[in-house]
Amino acid sequence: MNKIINNRQKKVYEIICIVKLISLLLCGIIIFKNYFDSSNINGRSAIEFLDGPSIGTSVSVIAMIYAIWLIFSINKIDVKYIKIIHTIENFMFILIFTVLVISSGAHVSQYKILFLFIIITSTIQSGIKHGIIIACVASTIVLSIDLIYVPNVDINQYFENDLILCGIFIITSWLLGYYVKIEDEYAEGLSNLANIDGLTEIYNHRFFHDTLKEIIVQAEQSKLPVSLIIADIDYFKHYNDIHGHQKGDEVLKKIGYILKNNVRESDIVARYGGEEFSIILPDTDENDALVVAERIRAAVEMWKFEGEKDQPKGNITISVGVSTFPIKAKNEMELVNSADDALYRAKFFNKNRVETYYSVIEELKEDIEAEHIDLITSIKTLISVINAKDRYTYGHIERVVMFAKLLGNRLELTDEEKKTLKYGAYLHDIGKINISKEILNKKMTLNKDEWEILKQHPANGVELIESVESLKDIVPLILHHHERYDGTGYPMQLKEKSIPYLARVLTVVDSFDAMTSNRPYGIRKTYEDAILELKRCSGSQFDPGIAEIFIKVVEENKDKFDNLTLFSEK
Ligand code: GH3
Ligand code: MG
Ligand code: MG
Repeated sequence: MNKIINNRQKKVYEIICIVKLISLLLCGIIIFKNYFDSSNINGRSAIEFLDGPSIGTSVSVIAMIYAIWLIFSINKIDVKYIKIIHTIENFMFILIFTVLVISSGAHVSQYKILFLFIIITSTIQSGIKHGIIIACVASTIVLSIDLIYVPNVDINQYFENDLILCGIFIITSWLLGYYVKIEDEYAEGLSNLANIDGLTEIYNHRFFHDTLKEIIVQAEQSKLPVSLIIADIDYFKHYNDIHGHQKGDEVLKKIGYILKNNVRESDIVARYGGEEFSIILPDTDENDALVVAERIRAAVEMWKFEGEKDQPKGNITISVGVSTFPIKAKNEMELVNSADDALYRAKFFNKNRVETYYSVIEELKEDIEAEHIDLITSIKTLISVINAKDRYTYGHIERVVMFAKLLGNRLELTDEEKKTLKYGAYLHDIGKINISKEILNKKMTLNKDEWEILKQHPANGVELIESVESLKDIVPLILHHHERYDGTGYPMQLKEKSIPYLARVLTVVDSFDAMTSNRPYGIRKTYEDAILELKRCSGSQFDPGIAEIFIKVVEENKDKFDNLTLFSEK
């Protein structure tokens, strides 16, 4: 819809420009004609002291410069300068018409009507107010010429006649302006129908994407940041199930209202999907966006929704993800994906919270030699491909990195080792890129062939990164994260201490997350059950020392995770 309106405006602008150009050329012709048509020169004509050919030439030169300027600038004028440019244009035209009227006989000139050109074009372009102002200025000029050139008479015939002309000027601008106003309101109404979400009365998904694209283009030029907030209602399905969809719709409406009232006029609040909202914050850096996101989160938490006491935590709340262009995302698509990732993390850490986008890969870039940055960027792409294939792997990587960080701190590793563990945790499943979606998401037990394919992922992962010198420390983690302490793992059946230490650490956190999350195969365990399983497999699958410390870490950090979904749900 925006495109249609913009197109319409562009076309109107083009026509107006052509009209202005023609009027300029007419002026040139009239001046030449006046000069050479001696019968037209009466005794008191200003043409005697204004040199006709030079005025005509000037007008023609101005028309030419104006035409060239129009051709080159028609699509490029910055919206900010449009008003100033129009004012200058109008001033220029009034000046030219005034000179023309004076030079063609002043009060007796037949060309006073030319002012209608600029009155009509400026009214269409800038609206009723502007049009009436131009009409008044033109009238004043016409009447002043009559008074100046016919002084000291009792009844100034020219003045009286021109009063009618001035009436025409003003009525034309008023009528036309009013018509333009109705047209604009009608177009706005239509565009609202197309851009506004019927339920929440905020912008819809399509408008959000169109506008985000435009705002990112502007931000690229102005070098200003743009932040994006994506919010999702927590346990909304639960609310709908208990209170019905109609009450659910009421909540959606209220939340739309709360969001709109907690941001600036210039921010774009949209309904991104069913119970997801997005807010574009132009000219806003990450810190400012975080303040806004937190204000919104708190406002929703404070709002008294009907029946909210039945929600799992006694409140309707939202989880919020924030990302910022250009520091966290390089384009529109990355901005949406990264805000979505941040939202996912907020959901994971207990919901009802705000998270900014953060990527281990960005950190990794800082530790990598410049020549390999491109490879890291490709790894990032690979990971997003895996994410798209298998949402489980995505959350899994995030959680394994988090568990690895917690355990790494507890094991008193050196800073270097902590980094290696973190990067190893991030990249450990990268070899899954070669494995088909069907095998990754298969609900039944894998057959022998499929199992063989799956078992290749550590070696495939190593192949992908081995050319990067600065990643050489994480190669053993990727290769050996499926070895078992008793020597029955894969790919090399290493046993006990012959398995690299950090790979043994990674095996524990990786398996723990596999037990506690929704995998396509197998039932999710509660944290308590997973701890029992860790104990049971200590010494067979896991290094007993590491497993013991990890169990302590999990027990100490229970509150950091989502108690309801991870501890109690089966
Ligand atoms: P989470 O905390 O993880 O976000 O859980 P959730 O239940 O909010 O999320 P989930 O994605 O499982 O469910 C989204 C629910 O949103 C499903 C549907 O009942 C509800 N929903 C989506 N669109 C509408 C709508 O237009 N009106 C109403 N009333 N409910 C909607
Ligand atoms: Mg959702
Ligand atoms: Mg939800």
